[in-house]
Amino acid sequence: MSSQVQVKQLNSGDAGFKETLLSSLSLPTADDAAIDAAVVNILSAVKERGDSAILEFTKQFDRLNIANVTELEIPHRDLEKSYQELSSEQKNALDIAAKRVRAYHERQKIEAGCHSWEYEEADGTKLGQKVTPLDRVGIYVPGGKAAYPSSVLMNAIPAKVAGVAEVIMVVPTPDGARNPLVLAAAYLAGVDRVFTIGGAQAIGALAYGTKTIPSVDKIVGPGNAYVAAAKRRVFGTVGIDMIAGPSEILVLCDGSTNPDWVAMDLFSQAEHDEQAQSILLCPDVAFIEQVQASINRLLPEMHRAKVITTSLANRALLIQVKDMAEACDIANAIAAEHLEICALDPRKWAEKIRHAGAIFMGNYTSESLGDYCAGPNHVLPTARTARFSSPLGVYDFIKRSSMIEVSEAGAQTLGQVASTLARGEGLQAHARAAEMRLKK
Ligand code: NAD
Repeated sequence: MSSQVQVKQLNSGDAGFKETLLSSLSLPTADDAAIDAAVVNILSAVKERGDSAILEFTKQFDRLNIANVTELEIPHRDLEKSYQELSSEQKNALDIAAKRVRAYHERQKIEAGCHSWEYEEADGTKLGQKVTPLDRVGIYVPGGKAAYPSSVLMNAIPAKVAGVAEVIMVVPTPDGARNPLVLAAAYLAGVDRVFTIGGAQAIGALAYGTKTIPSVDKIVGPGNAYVAAAKRRVFGTVGIDMIAGPSEILVLCDGSTNPDWVAMDLFSQAEHDEQAQSILLCPDVAFIEQVQASINRLLPEMHRAKVITTSLANRALLIQVKDMAEACDIANAIAAEHLEICALDPRKWAEKIRHAGAIFMGNYTSESLGDYCAGPNHVLPTARTARFSSPLGVYDFIKRSSMIEVSEAGAQTLGQVASTLARGEGLQAHARAAEMRLKK
């Protein structure tokens, strides 16, 4: 494949622009039914046969032929050894990333209402909410085609900051190849147990439990289409964080940035996979042409040029807009996973943004810093779900119980209200329970 690509260009003033844009954002779903059918079989086998199904699927998909699931657990001392054996450069980078991710999420725990609260009414009735962490969480770390130590940090650290007692990590190791950085990240993040299993069978094991692998209360973490379909299927038995689709980056640029920087930022998501989406919104048509030229000049240097070329050809857009204000309106309609505002006055435009997984402000804030070490979570809503959902955070690992303590005086007034409404609903026991507490 040639390392040149002409990215599709649109102009917001063109007839039918909105329809063209929306259809460019949706993904083909042709394979969904076949994947879902395979996942249903895998999940029911794991539910019925537990460990023996795990051994069978691990042999089939990851080419690991072992006799007992206990052999798939990595002892804690091996996690620590992986960390100790890293080069000092890698150890230092992982330490800094983990420290910054932890600091951000500790701050989030304080700021984002992750604590219990209560207030008292005049008659002594007390109302509030008790916040408790989940008992046990499962983290899926993808490992089929690449290894993702940053995903270990981003999923495990907020769970530990929330106070989750036990974090169980699963990661496939095709042909038994264990990634030392992934294991070192698990050690650093405080993961309690690691099993080298993957795909829908790993999700099934975490949801239903097997003799060797304990069931969890919630499963978080990204994965391929089999993992996503399995998470969708086990939702209800366990909680899940979200269904992550292919990565997306949307760059809003006023033309003040080096076009090479913008091109590389578009590449940074395109290199994830062929279905990733990279979009530029810019009012300056000459700048758009410069970015197109940078793309073609830089592409041959890229190790993953093939994936980037396919992704850009399939799904990228360079869009000329009227002005930056219109760019913000379009960005809100796109609701991208990652939104970069490369402009001289990024905060002015950020104020207008309402829908985005993460907002990267200013010419020095490359999205890739957020992927690894800025501190905020890199697990973000994709496929326009930023309209209604948020980045993974400490709040995903806690739950709230309502707290109600009605005083004797409060029972007199509330009892009459409840009695009237309960009788209106025809629920006699409800009404009488309230009436019995009324003073004669
Ligand atoms: P993966 O761990 O998600 O999947 C590997 C597993 O898929 C295998 O162990 C196997 O069990 C299963 N599998 C493969 N082929 C199968 C088949 N034909 N039938 C049944 N099961 C099958 O690893 P991956 O494949 O490398 O995918 C990782 C995904 O995670 C990528 O799409 C990547 O973009 C995404 N990702 C997202 C983020 C994020 O933050 N959004 C971060 C990292 C990775």
